[in-house]
Amino acid sequence: MSYSLDFQPGLDWARTQDQADPLKTFRDEFCIPPHGNDAQVYLCGNSLGLQPQATRQALLDELDDWGRLAVEAHFRGRHPWMPYHSFVRDNLAGLVGAQPGEVVAMNSLSANLHLMLVSFYRPTTTRNAILLEKRAFPSDQYALQSQVRFHGHDPATALIELDGDEANGVISLDAIARALDEHGERIAVVLLPGVQYLTGQIFDLKAITALAHAKGCIVGFDLAHAVGNVPVDLHDSGCDFAVWCHYKYVNSGPGAVAGCFVHERHARSELPRFAGWWGHDQSTRFQMGPQFVPTTGADGWQLSNPPILALAPLRVSLEIFHRAGIRRLREKSLALTAYLAWAIQREVPQLIDILTPAEPQRRGSQLSLRVKGPRDAGRALFEHLSEQGIVGDWREPDVIRVAPTALYNRFDDAWTLVEAMKAFARA
Ligand SMILES: *Cc1c(COP(=O)(O)O)cnc(C)c1O
Repeated sequence: MSYSLDFQPGLDWARTQDQADPLKTFRDEFCIPPHGNDAQVYLCGNSLGLQPQATRQALLDELDDWGRLAVEAHFRGRHPWMPYHSFVRDNLAGLVGAQPGEVVAMNSLSANLHLMLVSFYRPTTTRNAILLEKRAFPSDQYALQSQVRFHGHDPATALIELDGDEANGVISLDAIARALDEHGERIAVVLLPGVQYLTGQIFDLKAITALAHAKGCIVGFDLAHAVGNVPVDLHDSGCDFAVWCHYKYVNSGPGAVAGCFVHERHARSELPRFAGWWGHDQSTRFQMGPQFVPTTGADGWQLSNPPILALAPLRVSLEIFHRAGIRRLREKSLALTAYLAWAIQREVPQLIDILTPAEPQRRGSQLSLRVKGPRDAGRALFEHLSEQGIVGDWREPDVIRVAPTALYNRFDDAWTLVEAMKAFARA
């Protein structure tokens, strides 16, 4: 273990940990937004990850190639545009524990969710329900509602919503098992998160998949808050499909090209899909024939030729993850998040409740905090922190989320946050 779990109060201890951190140099690879003459304490990587320094040049290179080579850059660019999406494939597969042919970078998260549901949500008269969580991210709810309606079913009966059965809305594996026991025969698709965006709870992909497959359901995951945050082993989990975005923990910029996983067992799928020319068999794509023949694997769900200017930041960012290693990052994240939780409970227990599960293996980098006291106390604390250059995010009605990420946050950041909370509590 490279990180001490024998936590001590005070900035000196935090700085000593930062000095000894084997991953400390990665912070220098990021643009940390300024706050006055100092740097922000940026704890918002769960919402928009910071810009890697190398991203700017990677984008300029593509603009240069476009300027110098125009159409020829498809073949002669420094990173030829024709196979460009394949340059991110291996590192992406490594990050999510998939085989290379199981992943593709394309579109956006919500668009990919729809494309996956087109293929994997095949409702029948008896099996037409989708199991999701009651407090799913709104875009996922809208996508699922509209898919159910599109097939002529009623969301009121066809969407089965899991409510939290543990404190603070956390959903136990038992609750999922009970829902599957009760409704399994009529559930077509189970769609759950890898990490829940409000509570920060980790879901056990493999256990959920086994339970749902035993009932004959298709299983998909939304990994928006999991990828780049915690290791996921998509292939090994056995799930059928997964979707995620890259602008949160994966630091690929606003609206970045998203990710999609289709398990190997569906690689030569005859399932219906919405097709486009970039999903066509590569060897005959440019014969421009009228008959769609899908290429094998996740690539076969692509529609369009990829947006190079949007893929360049993803290529840069995945290369950083490859060097750092998601398992090494997880080791730091476990220590850093546990330290922050410890310091909050030690220094400001009268002010803050932590909603995220206390067991380290059930949470990633994110802590969701609720401020005790009058109704507007949470908002007031959030604004107090913002004025000090401490950036988390606010989720209505009363949750502050902070995410100390392993690539660029320090123990110093965690202690600085807690000191600012103490000052707020005193005022
Ligand atoms: C961030 C997030 C989204 C956002 O969807 P986009 O299509 O990327 O705008 C959707 N679902 C979940 C669970 C998210 O966390």
